[in-house]
Amino acid sequence: MPRDAGRTGLYVCGPTVYGAPHVGHGRFALVYDVLRRYLEFCGLRVDHVSNVTDIDDKIIDRAASEGRSWRDVAAEAEAEWWAAMDQMGLARPTATPHATEYIAEMVEFVGELRARGSAYETGDGVYFDTSSVADYGFLKHQSIESLRAGARVEVDDQKRSPVDFALWKRSKPGEPSWEAPFGAGRPGWHTECVVMSLALLGENFDLHGGGEDLIFPHHENERAQAEARGKRFAHRWMHNGLVRVDGEKMSKSLGNFRTMADLLERSDPRAYRLLVLGSHYRQAVEVNERTLEDATTALGRIDSLARRFADAPPDAEAGDAGEERRQFREAMDNDLDTPRALGGLFSAMRRANAFWDAGDLRAGGTLARTVLDLFAALGVEAAGGRQEVDERVLDLVRRRDEARAARDFAAADRLRAEIEQSGWVVEDTSGGTRVYR
Ligand SMILES: [Zn+2]
Repeated sequence: MPRDAGRTGLYVCGPTVYGAPHVGHGRFALVYDVLRRYLEFCGLRVDHVSNVTDIDDKIIDRAASEGRSWRDVAAEAEAEWWAAMDQMGLARPTATPHATEYIAEMVEFVGELRARGSAYETGDGVYFDTSSVADYGFLKHQSIESLRAGARVEVDDQKRSPVDFALWKRSKPGEPSWEAPFGAGRPGWHTECVVMSLALLGENFDLHGGGEDLIFPHHENERAQAEARGKRFAHRWMHNGLVRVDGEKMSKSLGNFRTMADLLERSDPRAYRLLVLGSHYRQAVEVNERTLEDATTALGRIDSLARRFADAPPDAEAGDAGEERRQFREAMDNDLDTPRALGGLFSAMRRANAFWDAGDLRAGGTLARTVLDLFAALGVEAAGGRQEVDERVLDLVRRRDEARAARDFAAADRLRAEIEQSGWVVEDTSGGTRVYR
């Protein structure tokens, strides 16, 4: 149940803008785009907040190594991000707060944690005291002791515990910094997300999402600092699985790093969406030549269904293919089971095509329209609906139908070849010759 009737507050951890978005970013963005579309399809209004981390060590490091300003690096990488997301057909989040726009609120938030005794100062910043929350490790289902044992300890660490984390980092000379009562510096990443999600969605908002690699420490650390104030943070959490490229967990060091720009250059953006939807969001997605090709083939079938039935007459009596809709919603309501939802749609598609082959354009058309409508609800808009056929081809079609009516099959075959040479696909239906591209 949403906190506010009729609407859902969704916060998704967005990009740290320091480089080109890769296929893993594309996946998480698609998962939450589909979730949002589905909630809207069900009639909910979605407040979809996704942040842009525009100040971070990685941005500062890249700026330093390239001799540029950090703002320049962040602005360029953010532009690349939205270009890829737009190309993928993602609905932009309803709000995209930038970390640097909320520094005053972050300073206030860190001050509140200090006042409550949940934070302490060291030589290089302000740290969160993880022992101040009773259930630290909740999201990871691990005790604080085992997390502590697994944490990496830096040599010059001044933290009291290896799992404590920076709320505020004092700036070194030459680094970007903002004034604060506890020393000029910049916020820690975990603090950014807490402050921006609470500012835009309020306490105890409905759903917090992100990739499963963010469960620990990022999300745990967001939750810990928010709840250290004695308030509920996100009501539910949702984590998507990662992407494996050619069988390996994707990472820069493996050399199989693929940018979204690479992928979008090679394939239809809708094919990647279908590929992602073919796995449950919690599972890993395998991206390679074969899975991309399979998705492209599946996409071709959707488009050709749309072309086939573009002119099919609506059938008032056959209704709205309610059973297909019911099954679709049942699958999606079951923890967003997109593989099952797709399975149902492809099976309905086969039935629509069987109606076509049997010459039943009305029943086929009703089913096809429903299927295409439900694909669109997932963000897969079929291309190639009604197509303008030029007069010359229409004339060939008329002559072919006359030849067939006169049982002059040699002439009909000649005319078919002539139409096909013009780049059209020819199909025989009970209503005569149909052409589409
Ligand atoms: Zn976050």
